[in-house]
Amino acid sequence: MQPGPRRLAYLDALGIDRWVPRDAIEPALDAPAAPEVVPAARTIVAPRAPVSTPVAAQPLPAGIDWVPLRERVAGCTLCDLCKTRTQTVFGVGNTQADWLVIGEAPGAEEDRQGEPFVGRAGQLLNAMLLAIGLPRETVFIANILKCRPPGNRDPAPVEVSRCLPYLSAQIALLKPKIMLAVGRIAAQNLLATDAPLARLRGKLHTFGEAKTPLVITYHPAYLLRTPADKRKAWEDLKFARATYARIVGGGA
Ligand code: URA
Repeated sequence: MQPGPRRLAYLDALGIDRWVPRDAIEPALDAPAAPEVVPAARTIVAPRAPVSTPVAAQPLPAGIDWVPLRERVAGCTLCDLCKTRTQTVFGVGNTQADWLVIGEAPGAEEDRQGEPFVGRAGQLLNAMLLAIGLPRETVFIANILKCRPPGNRDPAPVEVSRCLPYLSAQIALLKPKIMLAVGRIAAQNLLATDAPLARLRGKLHTFGEAKTPLVITYHPAYLLRTPADKRKAWEDLKFARATYARIVGGGA
């Protein structure tokens, strides 16, 4: 079967050429035209905290719920990024999602809007997710850091260590069936490794005591700069989709 027009549109958005010989195309491209939308149990957008109030540097209570967690993040002063941020970027999406997508840190646009992946990289991330049948609102998206590092520099180790408990709490609440880390910073911090991204892609990792399956791919901002690697990202996405299908007992 020929790839349908909608899937071709997603592949176009991903910048994946269509002239690849059919023999070289993976079965996923022969899939039905309509995206295999993951049935989101319910679409519940994580509730927003009413105001940002500074909080003391206390450990997060075990079992903290979404609203108090969002409040803690909004008022966080545990590292110097609180002095330069416009606002914290908690994360967005379906709090009952099976998929958790994890990026690095907010950029300028995210800092302005308070939502992860809303800039150009975010548009590409949306296209990447849609290419595997996942509209943005069906997944949950968060970052390693909740505040923008000035000038979009790499997160400092102290910033990561102060911020990671928030992500851990989000993971504990969400209990995702699969996690997709985009980019080296997310991958290395989730896996506590210095290994280069090239060694981390293409393998199934697990995260935490729950051994949540974790797939690594390129950061969309990198793909915007290096479109030649979009085809490899597409392989990663198909790998993630097949892994998820195996977990939930469907076909790949
Ligand atoms: N890059 C990231 O890693 N996260 C964002 O939210 C935006 C850009």
